[in-house]
Amino acid sequence: MIDNFVYNAHPGRVLFGTGTLDRLPEEVERLGIERALVLATPHQRGVAEDLSRMIGTRAAGVFADATMHTPVEVTDRALREVQNRGIDGLVAVGGGSTTGLAKAIALRTDLPQIVVPTTYAGSEMTPILGETQNGAKTTQSSPKVLPEVVIYDVDLTLNLPFDLTVTSGMNAIAHAAEALYAKERNPIISLLAEEGIAALWRALPALRAHPTDLGARSEALYGAWLCGICLGSVGMALHHKLCHTLGGSFDLPHAETHTALLPHALRYNAPDAPEAMSRLSRALGTDNPSRSLFNLAADLGATMALRDLGMPEDGIERATDLALQNPYWNPRPLERDALRDLIAAAWAGECPA
Ligand code: NAD
Repeated sequence: MIDNFVYNAHPGRVLFGTGTLDRLPEEVERLGIERALVLATPHQRGVAEDLSRMIGTRAAGVFADATMHTPVEVTDRALREVQNRGIDGLVAVGGGSTTGLAKAIALRTDLPQIVVPTTYAGSEMTPILGETQNGAKTTQSSPKVLPEVVIYDVDLTLNLPFDLTVTSGMNAIAHAAEALYAKERNPIISLLAEEGIAALWRALPALRAHPTDLGARSEALYGAWLCGICLGSVGMALHHKLCHTLGGSFDLPHAETHTALLPHALRYNAPDAPEAMSRLSRALGTDNPSRSLFNLAADLGATMALRDLGMPEDGIERATDLALQNPYWNPRPLERDALRDLIAAAWAGECPA
């Protein structure tokens, strides 16, 4: 017997494979874009300029100032470019930071977006937008920010630095792991979650030996896509809320924080999410998912202690208070002492039991 459920499918067109970027000009034309603004971070300006050349006469400029956590000040500058150059469509190439900028512009202008992801963050699959202003981060969900087209080209991920490959891959696994015990979990999303986790779990160790292996890169990007759908379809719980709190309060890096916290958050929730844990165990082929994920990430060189990411020791109490401030749904109730122990263990980088 299958329980009643609601499944929110998001509209959108996805091209997946190698060499798929060649189809960018045709996709720009298909959307009727005549003056595209290509977005990137400063680090990926060169890639954005390549894309602009590919688009040819339908490209009207490059804006390569995308920044982590989508500061409103950067969005305002990009909006001035949109206005001054008569932009009628956006092409974003990069990770979650660049996708975030495209979404922030789309929210305010309704311009069509083509997103070309180069990390495993998964933002391109979600209606969620996080923005920062005067040091405060706010998150909202709106169908307006969903890209019209996503082009996954494995070739663009071949040079993703290995440390970011690992942490971004763990970030993706976190989306799917929490989807397995989400309040709105459903059979479709759980299927995608299991498949996405298994694909990344196979790909990450293979990439250590051969970071440019096309087969492993392809599995990783496919897994990240599925995990992104999970993030965009059901509500997240303790792990994502804690990452949000810690990232915002102590200015910790996004994917790295997810990596260090995930094993501990899963350990905390395990007793109250037995079905999710057994699906997670099946995807990983192990009987202790928390430990296995910790060991994999540590073996692959990830920083597993929040203190090494810049969190001060007195932050443990502060983070515990903050985590309890705005209660939210979680499979296991939020218990102060256990929560404090979780944060302390992640701060010290201990392997969960
Ligand atoms: P990022 O986009 O900040 O990228 C990190 C750095 O790596 C950047 O300098 C980028 O230019 C570079 N880079 C990206 N791809 C590369 C490649 N293939 N080769 C070489 N360099 C490359 O990192 P991220 O982890 O992808 O994104 C983090 C941001 O995304 C955070 O702000 C987070 O809040 C947001 N995010 C949002 C959602 C959502 O649904 N709204 C989901 C996940 C992440």
